[in-house]
Amino acid sequence: MTHNGKTTNIGILGADGRMGAAVIRAIAEHPNARLTAAVTAPQSTELGRDAGVVSGGSEIGVSLSADLKSALNACDVLIDFSAPKAAIDAALILAGTGHSGRCHAMVSGTTGFTKTEDAAFEAAANEISLLRSGNFSPGVTALSALVELATEKLGRGWDIEILEMHHRHKVDAPSGTALLLGEAAAKGRGLDLSQSQVLSREGMTGTRRDDDIGFATLRGGGVVGSHEVRLASSLEMITLSHDAFDRSVFARGALSSALWLVDQPKGLYSMRDVLGF
Ligand code: NAP
Repeated sequence: MTHNGKTTNIGILGADGRMGAAVIRAIAEHPNARLTAAVTAPQSTELGRDAGVVSGGSEIGVSLSADLKSALNACDVLIDFSAPKAAIDAALILAGTGHSGRCHAMVSGTTGFTKTEDAAFEAAANEISLLRSGNFSPGVTALSALVELATEKLGRGWDIEILEMHHRHKVDAPSGTALLLGEAAAKGRGLDLSQSQVLSREGMTGTRRDDDIGFATLRGGGVVGSHEVRLASSLEMITLSHDAFDRSVFARGALSSALWLVDQPKGLYSMRDVLGF
């Protein structure tokens, strides 16, 4: 992945969130990236404060603002870690005919979309370069490729179950990463995840169907992100797992994706495209 020595102007949506702050810190350390806009919710108590300071670093001369349209005129690519409604609003502005600003690319890590929201969001890729991922770590990108390979080669007779644990503040379940791994498993097995997913189990569930892909969710403490994909036959079990130690791994991955995406034509991309998996 090359950045051709040029400097890319980056805007952040969700700038005072946990991930927004981590991305701002990653930009500050990158020689080819510059933060030029930092957007947060209109009700944020951090509005007007310096984004570098809010992220826990030093002053960088960019204030937190709720003015998304101005932000989209000030950056080459927008990195979004906010909430589904905010992400969709930004994508619609970028893809809309009224947008004549410089930004035509968006990297989004926001999770928790409904199916309808997913479709509305991804439609923006007809007009802009849109890269979304439920997980920006190279490790999970590799894990998803391994899961797809394993489920393809092993075929039927192996039950697929996905378990995730995250910190106590996470608001959606299952995680975007668990769903991403579910998609990979379903693809390998030739299934449609929306038909196979069992997102939770309770009470008299009946026996497991062969093509179920089960999910289990744990929440607690400060866990950054922990995922397991279990493939169980009647005689043995494989566990493929990943643990993130620090959310900077997602921030760095999102930043690398943004630097890659600005040179891509419009369309929908994933981390697998960035890393060549
Ligand atoms: P967070 O700490 O709650 O941050 C979300 C930020 O978005 C907050 O600053 C929030 O502001 C802001 N926001 C909400 N509505 C907004 C709006 N309309 N306009 C602008 N900003 C708005 O959450 P987080 O842990 O950083 O996670 C953010 C998202 O990224 C979640 O969906 C999470 O699941 C996802 N995530 C993805 C990855 C990945 O690798 N793909 C990794 C980690 C997290 P207020 O607090 O003022 O509402």
